[in-house]
Amino acid sequence: MDTKNVTDEYILHTYGRFPVTLVKGKGSIAFDENNKRYIDLTSGIGVNAFGFCDETFIEAVTQQAKKLQHTSNLFYTEPAAYLSKLLSEKSGMSKVFFSNSGAEANECAIKAARRFSLQKNGKGFHNIVTLKNSFHGRTITTLAATGQESFHEDFFPFTDGFLYADTDNTESIKTIVKNNKCAAIMIEIIQGEGGVMPLSYELIETIKELSTSFDIPLIIDEVQTGNGRTGKYFSYMHYNLNPDIVTTAKGLGGGLPIGATLFSKRFENALISGTHGSTFGGNPIVCAGASSIVERIDDAMLSDITAKGEYISSAIKDFSKVKSVSGKGLMLGIEIEGEVKSAVSRCIENGVLVLTAKNKVRLLPALSISYKEIDEALSILKSCI
Ligand SMILES: *Cc1c(COP(=O)(O)O)cnc(C)c1O
Repeated sequence: MDTKNVTDEYILHTYGRFPVTLVKGKGSIAFDENNKRYIDLTSGIGVNAFGFCDETFIEAVTQQAKKLQHTSNLFYTEPAAYLSKLLSEKSGMSKVFFSNSGAEANECAIKAARRFSLQKNGKGFHNIVTLKNSFHGRTITTLAATGQESFHEDFFPFTDGFLYADTDNTESIKTIVKNNKCAAIMIEIIQGEGGVMPLSYELIETIKELSTSFDIPLIIDEVQTGNGRTGKYFSYMHYNLNPDIVTTAKGLGGGLPIGATLFSKRFENALISGTHGSTFGGNPIVCAGASSIVERIDDAMLSDITAKGEYISSAIKDFSKVKSVSGKGLMLGIEIEGEVKSAVSRCIENGVLVLTAKNKVRLLPALSISYKEIDEALSILKSCI
């Protein structure tokens, strides 16, 4: 079978794919159909936390597949229970709702914030403040939450009640919060799809103050930044923040689809019996795999991620065509002098898989990538960027 031709004939053309068919991998090394070898600095957009075919992950998933692959949420299952406890220990959050993707985790957060606000403030306090240049998902409501007009153009009308604040000043969000009846503020600490753009310390402090003084819940979207990616378990932990709701997905499942919405004690009754659900949410195989990932993201691993991130970014800052490097830990955005698309194509042709984010080359390697693999990738990046 000619995979490329069959894909182009039968799968909807919603992705700008690279001309590579990946067939197998181990750790941070992938192979295409011609057995060409690549170093993977994408981990499936920050999904394969421990790379391809990690032994511990395979063991957890296959053991569970042999026992019970699925049941409905009308019964209790061990893997979801165990994962919920692990996530609570890592985050200090009180409860979790499991779904299947980042967008769904955010939908759940939005529903919870709206319902909580309705009960606390009565009708009308339904606005959710998000930031310009944010990305929160592809469903109609999470697109409405996404503060980028280019994503909206073709799909009106949207879910009402989203307001977008500037990221380059603190007045914008102050004005919006003061003049509107709000149910929540929802942010990414580092805007991933928006070009690996960390929020300024001033903006984060302002958001914290507004959330406290107006008693507006803070939702943090950790779909891309969560699960160790930035060198803390969640990226908000780099700051003195106590979010009410945290959403996560991508790296949590180690390669299988999962979304999780975490709630603080105060929010644990924001959604009650009958108000939300998911057929596949909390799937036993997925949760068994996720637990095998979360368990291993300990303090030693987090310092290791920070060290690797600093090692990569300091090397890249010295490349001649590099203007700047943004991000934290193993989530890095590289601003270059030349054209990004062609630089990325050169990297891939020369055996290193990388991503783009807006006008940047984006790196999201597996958290477990070795220094040997990093060095090999860096020398190829140096000649291709
Ligand atoms: C990827 C991403 C999403 C959407 O996740 P899906 O699993 O594709 O639905 C939402 N928010 C952020 C910050 C993301 O990076």
